[in-house]
Amino acid sequence: MTNPYLIQGPALISFSGGRTSAYMLKRIIDAHGGMLPDDVHVCFANTGKEREETLRFVHECGVRWNVPITWLEWRAGAGATTEERFAVVGYNSASRNGEPLSAIFKRRKYLPNAVTRFCTAEAKIETMKQFMISKGYATWLNVVGLRADEPHRLLKQVLRNMKGKERWRSSCPLAVGGVIKRHVLRFWLGRNQWGTDRRYPLPQGFDLGLDDHDGNCDACMLKGYAVLAHIERKRPGTLDWWIGEEDGITAMIADGESADKPTGAQFVTEYSYREIQNMARSSAELPNIDGQQVEDCTGEICTVASDGEVNDEMVVWLIDQLSKVHTMPAPKMKAEAAIGDLYGNAA
Ligand code: SF4
Repeated sequence: MTNPYLIQGPALISFSGGRTSAYMLKRIIDAHGGMLPDDVHVCFANTGKEREETLRFVHECGVRWNVPITWLEWRAGAGATTEERFAVVGYNSASRNGEPLSAIFKRRKYLPNAVTRFCTAEAKIETMKQFMISKGYATWLNVVGLRADEPHRLLKQVLRNMKGKERWRSSCPLAVGGVIKRHVLRFWLGRNQWGTDRRYPLPQGFDLGLDDHDGNCDACMLKGYAVLAHIERKRPGTLDWWIGEEDGITAMIADGESADKPTGAQFVTEYSYREIQNMARSSAELPNIDGQQVEDCTGEICTVASDGEVNDEMVVWLIDQLSKVHTMPAPKMKAEAAIGDLYGNAA
C-alpha cells in the first residue's frame, strides 16, 4: 500500500484547528520530509467563533512545524468575484466576534440548523473552494481529517467522490491509515486523561488545550442542549453572541425583511439559546453529558452523534474506496451547486 500521507497536488488540506486534523497535517508533513509541495495548500477557515485556544493552536502548528497555513475568512457570497469572496487573515487579524458567520446569516436572513448547515458550507467549504480557484486550480484533492472510527462521515465522502459532481475528490488519509481517536489523543496528550489534564508532559510540547466539547464554534448548535448548558455554566456569557444572532433574525422577520418562518430565527427549532442560558443560570443540576461526542467541524460534515449501524465489512469497503481516491479520474466540473446535496440549499 502506498503511504496515504503522501499527497499528490494540487491539493487542499482542510485544517479545522482540532487535534485530529492537526495530527493528520503532521503525518503529511513528515511523509513529505518536512516540506509540502508548492501545490499542496493547508487552509484554516476561521468562522470568528472559534475559541482563542483553537486560534493559538493553529498558529502554533504552523510555526512549530514550519508549514505555511493560510487563514481564510468568508467575505461575500455568490455574485461577487472569486477574490472578493474570501480574505486572507492571520493570527492577529482573524475575526474573534463571529463577524464572518454573522455576515452569512444576515445575507441569508435566516439561521443555520442541524439540517441546513450553510455555516459550514459557506464559511468553510465555499471559502476554501474560492481560495483554490483563485490559485488557478480547476480541480483538486481535498484532504480531510476523518478517522477510521467515523464511518458515517466517511460514507458521505465516498458517496460524494462517486458522484463526482464537485471540483474535488476527498481523500481521508487517517482513515486509510487506520487511525482512530485513541491514536490522536495519545499523540497529543500522552498519559494525560482529558484535554486539559496536564499531570504528565505533553508528547509534542504543546496541545490544543481544550476539552472534548469545547472545540469548533464555541456554542455550535450541533453540540446539543445539554452540552450548551454546561458550556454556559462553565463560561457564563458564551451564549450571548448566539442569542444576539437569534434576536437579529427575529427582528428581520418582524420587519418583513426576511420571508422565513419564525423557525429560521432559531438555531434549534425546539428551543432558543436564551432558554438554554436561562436554564443554565437557574437550574441547580444540569443534564448529564457523559458519552456525548463533538467531532471536528472539518470543512466537511460536522456531526455530534451518528445514526444507524455500520458493520465492520462496510468500514473495510469504505477504506478500500478511499484508498483508491488517487486513481479516480479527476472530477468533471459541471455542477457548481453540488454541495447543496448534503447541506440543504447551502450552495
Ligand atoms: S462548528 Fe457548528 S456553527 Fe461552526 S461552522 Fe461548523 S456547524 Fe456551523
